[in-house]
Amino acid sequence: MRQARMSGLSEPGGEGEECLVMKFGGTSVQDAAAIGRLCQLVRRALPQRPVLVVSALAKVTDQLMNAGWAAGEGHLEAARESLQHLRQRHEAVADGLVGGDKHDRLHNEFAREFDALAAVLSRIAWEKAFTPHVQDQLLGVGESLSSKLVHAALRSEGVEAVLVDPRECIITDAAHTRATPLWDETNERLQSLLIPLLKSGQIPVMGGFVGATRDGIPTTLGRGGSDFSASIVGAGLHARRIEIWTDVDGVMTTDPALCSDARRVARMTFDEAAELAYFGAKVLHPATLAPAMRGNVPVWVLNSRNPDCPGTEIVAHCETDGRVKAITSKQGVAIVDIEPVRWFAPELLREVFDVFERHEHSLDLLSASRGSLALLVSSVTALPAIAEELKGLAHVRWENHKALVCLVGEQIRRRPEIASQAFRAVAGIDVRMICQGASERNISFLVDESRVVEAVRRLHHSFFSVPGLSAPVPEPAVEASSSHAMCQAEGAWQ
Ligand code: ASP
Ligand code: MG
Repeated sequence: MRQARMSGLSEPGGEGEECLVMKFGGTSVQDAAAIGRLCQLVRRALPQRPVLVVSALAKVTDQLMNAGWAAGEGHLEAARESLQHLRQRHEAVADGLVGGDKHDRLHNEFAREFDALAAVLSRIAWEKAFTPHVQDQLLGVGESLSSKLVHAALRSEGVEAVLVDPRECIITDAAHTRATPLWDETNERLQSLLIPLLKSGQIPVMGGFVGATRDGIPTTLGRGGSDFSASIVGAGLHARRIEIWTDVDGVMTTDPALCSDARRVARMTFDEAAELAYFGAKVLHPATLAPAMRGNVPVWVLNSRNPDCPGTEIVAHCETDGRVKAITSKQGVAIVDIEPVRWFAPELLREVFDVFERHEHSLDLLSASRGSLALLVSSVTALPAIAEELKGLAHVRWENHKALVCLVGEQIRRRPEIASQAFRAVAGIDVRMICQGASERNISFLVDESRVVEAVRRLHHSFFSVPGLSAPVPEPAVEASSSHAMCQAEGAWQ
């Protein structure tokens, strides 16, 4: 049913309205020069019918957030001042891009947006509360401003761009600051609003990150959510592909800030990329890939400053299974040990999950033994309260300043020699809570934060710098013994 409706793009009677989603991140729209490059890329892509999704100008979302906090704490003057800076910045970018009538129109629109922003800040200061609902109202303006700049720049170059309000087509639940799309409604709106535009040869431009509830109340999809928007739009329109234009050459074998010889990964699977995003790689928002994966729309990560670099292609399957594709690390994690007061009862698990959920505290990893539970969390703020609630049932202890190191690659768990190679590489570094995850494609473990850079460098050297190891690896001759999830904590369970 849904399939039939969504395939409207390439229905008989024409060659279809196949399109391409191009998402430009904050650094790809950060100033007039960046928007100029964007315009060139869009012109080049015109025959493929691009739909544009843009982020706010680099750092704008943070600045709006800070203004909101300042207003909430009663520093309205400081908040207004930073708004003034934002306004000057946007106007300067506009001045560098468009002239004449278009310029005046843009200035007037900015004046309206900034007046509305000032009113929101006053309200926050007056109510002394920066609520999630108001946060969404405030932050979403960053994308509205940038989409107007991009729209005006394209039109002044003769491209038939048309502004689309994301609140009209990304329909979400009311979970402010981390909303989830209502898929059927969103897909219907995307189709009914965007396809006619594409059919008439126009180039839709919309802000990412933003949506609205059914009642039209603005929401946002979580920080970094413009990638997610692009994926939602790409899947909803059955796009040919989704391009994420950013300021790096693609997904890298590890964080280049940690390892100068990090290289671009040419191709990887959706699952590998999702795993990487989840385990700390910053290039893609973790939720991004789900819609693209469901709709089987390939995603490309590309560099707007180096557009001739082929980037990283993310697809359903690729031929490089069985190899480590990338190494990631996530700092600032803590291990939480939960030891039952009396004996380990199954209810303890439920209680623990409930209590973490009540505190909106997410769990990264878990292992259990007859004696206790071990959890991994990326923030310790709620732990004292959680410990208090579990008092009587369990003792809760935690240890800070750990880092999670993670090797990602399809089927690497089926090849025990990869784990051996990894542990040889980090010999001498204290490794804890070795967990090969519930998936076939990740081997991860904890080290002290102070040793994480060394661990990543050694692993990268071992897997990516030794000649011969990057050659294709034959299919494993024997199935590895551990084809199920394996976690080892103290008192290992499996
Ligand atoms: N501007 C938003 C943020 O910084 C969304 C995005 O850029 O992806 O979180
Ligand atoms: Mg981003």
